[in-house]
Amino acid sequence: MKIPVRQVPVSDTKSLLATATSKYPDESLAEITVDTAIVAFTHSRKTYIREADLVKYSVPADELEMRMSFFRLNDEPVKALNFLNDWGRWLPHRNFVTIRELLELQHSVREALMESPTAWLSSHYSDLPAARSRSANVPYFKVLTDSCQIAIRVTSTIDLMREMKFRVCARPDCQIPFPVTSKHSRSYCTQYCAHLESVRRSRRRIAQRSG
Ligand SMILES: [Zn+2]
Repeated sequence: MKIPVRQVPVSDTKSLLATATSKYPDESLAEITVDTAIVAFTHSRKTYIREADLVKYSVPADELEMRMSFFRLNDEPVKALNFLNDWGRWLPHRNFVTIRELLELQHSVREALMESPTAWLSSHYSDLPAARSRSANVPYFKVLTDSCQIAIRVTSTIDLMREMKFRVCARPDCQIPFPVTSKHSRSYCTQYCAHLESVRRSRRRIAQRSG
């Protein structure tokens, strides 16, 4: 499996590039890679390009819900694996993704939604995939994809262009960004987090009373 150099953990990139000019590149490479664990996930599914095939071989999914579960990923490989098994391929043409790539995109989306959209909108992240997005009927604009990466990127770009406001969930062990959609300000990303925090508050009150 070929892994792009930029996917190698940062401290090793320099020595990896040095192997390109080394007299014994294979030996040098073996030395470096022996300590470099790159966590990657592969799949063997076919790539579909035609709209009819995409519709036939995939199931509709809620991209906002998907982005929420994407925000919950951390460096635990099992979480990333479950995410990919639940939601599907990462990219259309490549059959693998590293955990580092997932977390890099997660960091960039978070920064764009919560801090400043400038870096995002001026980078390749805001490129639309080369697919027909205009339609003669409602919805006039659509991007059909079975790639999680594209769905997350397009959804986030549209949110940024609409200047949607996001806030961070108030549950300390959640803290994922969620859209502010109504005037009544919500503090939690989901009913689940709101409920969990209210249970915790009442437990604290009981503990205080009895203590
Ligand atoms: Zn939450």
